[in-house]
Amino acid sequence: MNQAGAWICAVPLAADALSPSGKITPIFGASAAASQSEQLVSIVIPVYNESANLPSLWSRLRPVLVAMGRPWEVVLIDDGSRDSSLEIMRSIAGAEEGRVRVIELARNFGQHSAILAGFRHVRGDIVVTLDADLQNPPEEIPRLLEAIDAGNDVVGGWREERHDESWRRYASQLHNRLTSLIVGVPMHDYGCMLRAYRRHIVDTVVECDEKAAFVPALANSFAKRVTEIRVGHSARAEGKSKYNLLRLATLSLNLITGFSLLPIQALSLTGLAIFVLDAAFALLLFAHRLIYGPQQEGAMWTLFAILFLFVGLIFLALGLIGEYVGRIYIEVRGRPTYIVRAVHGSEACGEGVRK
Ligand code: UDP
Ligand code: MG
Repeated sequence: MNQAGAWICAVPLAADALSPSGKITPIFGASAAASQSEQLVSIVIPVYNESANLPSLWSRLRPVLVAMGRPWEVVLIDDGSRDSSLEIMRSIAGAEEGRVRVIELARNFGQHSAILAGFRHVRGDIVVTLDADLQNPPEEIPRLLEAIDAGNDVVGGWREERHDESWRRYASQLHNRLTSLIVGVPMHDYGCMLRAYRRHIVDTVVECDEKAAFVPALANSFAKRVTEIRVGHSARAEGKSKYNLLRLATLSLNLITGFSLLPIQALSLTGLAIFVLDAAFALLLFAHRLIYGPQQEGAMWTLFAILFLFVGLIFLALGLIGEYVGRIYIEVRGRPTYIVRAVHGSEACGEGVRK
């Protein structure tokens, strides 16, 4: 087994931990039944000020799609570009007779929101996301599809050799560890946007309708079989990265608060720790008094012990309130508790399964 194989496993979804909703589309009909070569492949590309890259992107992507021998469509999302990206995309769409669509967003909403907008408009059975700056080679798409055909729900690209600045690589390592831990699906590279998803995963992500979604993490949390393949990575062809340290930190913070109640629970635990330490301190003071009798500075220490008792209580109370707020948050977020993929047997014929 190669290194990736050992690291990645088809992790069963801890769906019970998710909030109830039941509004998710089970898989029926054409998409599940279509033979692999008939399945429509949708490519989703978020674009923000990439006019310098779009012509070469299209000249490399189109031949790859044509050579696949499957039906395909491309959904380009203009994420509020201020250069001529939109015009270039519209001219590409104009030349492709309905196979390329451009979704123009009203302003810049960020890469992941743009991808979500694309997800809402795709018609494919398999959806591939790709960056517009040619850092993800379009030539890798057939390998992603192979891995999907092998039965995976999600296939992630792993940029083993990254061509980014060193601070970005370190920040990404940290981000990957954190995401793997929080989502419970270990992967080397959550930041790589060269990824492929099966339709039902995309539907689930869309129906979650999250405002600060981190798409790869959300998708992995709904997938039964997830895998990662090594993909090439190039330096940005033209222009600069749209991410700085602050934007990356915001992404990580969204991820932590979007996937776990850990920060709130840390409050309760801190309260508990202060409480226990304070009880030990009070016992020590009491023993000291019994052994050595009353001391002049004893009153001051007793005051400290009482003070810390209240500090501990305040932390505990905050944590407790936080737990309730967290539960409200989980309910409001409305992620599905479970997803029915198919019903087998006599019930398996039509509506009625969708709850
Ligand atoms: N992008 C976007 N909206 C944004 C920032 C980025 O649609 O607000 C797009 C961008 O045009 C590119 C992809 O997301 O196609 C990745 O962006 P970038 O190359 O800046 O990120 P990096 O490769 O540095 O992670
Ligand atoms: Mg890039």
